[in-house]
Amino acid sequence: MNEVHVFNAGPCFLPQEAIDSAIEALKDFKGTGVSLISVSHRSKEWEATMEECRALWKELLHIPDDYEVVLLGGGASLQFLCVPMNFLERKAAYLDTGVWAHKALKEAQGLGEAVVVACSKDRNYSYIPKDFEIPADADYFHVTTNNTIYGTELKQDLDSPVPLIADMSSDILSRPVDVSKYAVIYGGAQKNAGPAGVAFAIVRKDALGKVSRYIPTMLDYRTHIDKGSMFNTPPVFPIYVMTETLRWLKGIGGVPEIHRRNLKKADTLYAEIDRNPLFVGTAEKADRSIMNVCFVMAPGYESLQDEFMAFAKSKGMVGIKGHRSVGGFRASLYNACRQEDVDALVACMQEFAKMHA
Ligand SMILES: *Cc1c(COP(=O)(O)O)cnc(C)c1O
Repeated sequence: MNEVHVFNAGPCFLPQEAIDSAIEALKDFKGTGVSLISVSHRSKEWEATMEECRALWKELLHIPDDYEVVLLGGGASLQFLCVPMNFLERKAAYLDTGVWAHKALKEAQGLGEAVVVACSKDRNYSYIPKDFEIPADADYFHVTTNNTIYGTELKQDLDSPVPLIADMSSDILSRPVDVSKYAVIYGGAQKNAGPAGVAFAIVRKDALGKVSRYIPTMLDYRTHIDKGSMFNTPPVFPIYVMTETLRWLKGIGGVPEIHRRNLKKADTLYAEIDRNPLFVGTAEKADRSIMNVCFVMAPGYESLQDEFMAFAKSKGMVGIKGHRSVGGFRASLYNACRQEDVDALVACMQEFAKMHA
C-alpha cells in the first residue's frame, strides 16, 4: 500500500497510538479478559477510564473547578437542541457564520425567539463578522468558533455581556482557549478529540437551572453532571479512543505544543496557496482557519480541478475534496495530521504547477 496522507474533514485522522491501544482494548480491556465493548460500564476499570477522560479534558484545557465535562451521544447536532433547552427563556442570540451555525440557530428558533446578531452570508461565509453588538437582554450568545465547511475561524474568546456558548467541534484542543469566558463549550468528538459517537460539553454549573421549561431528562445537562455522564450506558468505545487521544496530546506537550504544530502546518499550506499561481484561498486572510484550509483553482485554471484531484489522489492525498458549498479543495489539518502530510500536499501542488507552467 502506498503511503497515504489523510485530510478528511471528519471523522478525522487520529493518532496511531490511540488506534493501537483501541485494538488491544477491543481484545482485552485492561487485563480483564473482556473486550472493551462488552465490559460493564459499572466496572471499576471502566469508571477509571471515564474519570481519566474527564481529568484529561480538565488538565489540557485548564478547565476551572466550577465547570463539568459531560460526554454524550447524539453528536454536536443534538447539542444544537440541548443548548436552547437548557438556556433559552426569553431570547437567544446567534452569530451566523455558516451551515453549522445555521443549524444551531434553527433548533433555538424551534423553541423560542432566536435572533441573528451578524451574518457573513453575503460573501458565502468567507469571513467572520466583526462589528456586531451582543444584545444585553439575550439569555445567551452562540458562536461557532471554527467553520469547518468554509475554513474560517473565530480565534479570540469574545467578551460577552451574556453567557457565551460555543460550538467548538472542529477546533477544540487545537489552540488554547480561555474556558472561563464561556458558559458552555460543546462539540462532536470526531473532528479533533476522538472517533464519532460521542459529543463533549464543558458546562459552567452555575449557568444552569435558569429556565422555567421542562427539560427532557436526557437533554438536561444536570442529569449528566449528576451521574458523571453515566445516566445511561455511555458510548464506551468512542470514549475510550477519546481518552487515548487526549493521553497522546498530553504526552506530546499538550495544547501549547499542538497549537505550535498546527500553526506551522497551516502556515506551510497557506503560504503555498498564496505563492502558487494555480490556486487561491477562499477565506479572508485574517479569518483563516488553522484546522480547515479551503482553496480553489485560480481564475484561468478552473478547468484543471478534476485533473489536480486525480493527481493528488495518485500521490496518496485522501479527503481533499471541498464541501459542495465552497467547491474546490479543503485540507483539514486536525491535531493528528502531521507536518509531513502537509509537506507532501505542498510538494504535490508544486509538482502540478510545474506540469502546467
Ligand atoms: C461536524 C460539525 C458539527 C456536526 O457534528 P455531529 O457530531 O456530526 O452532529 C457541528 N458543528 C461543527 C462546527 C462541525 O464541524
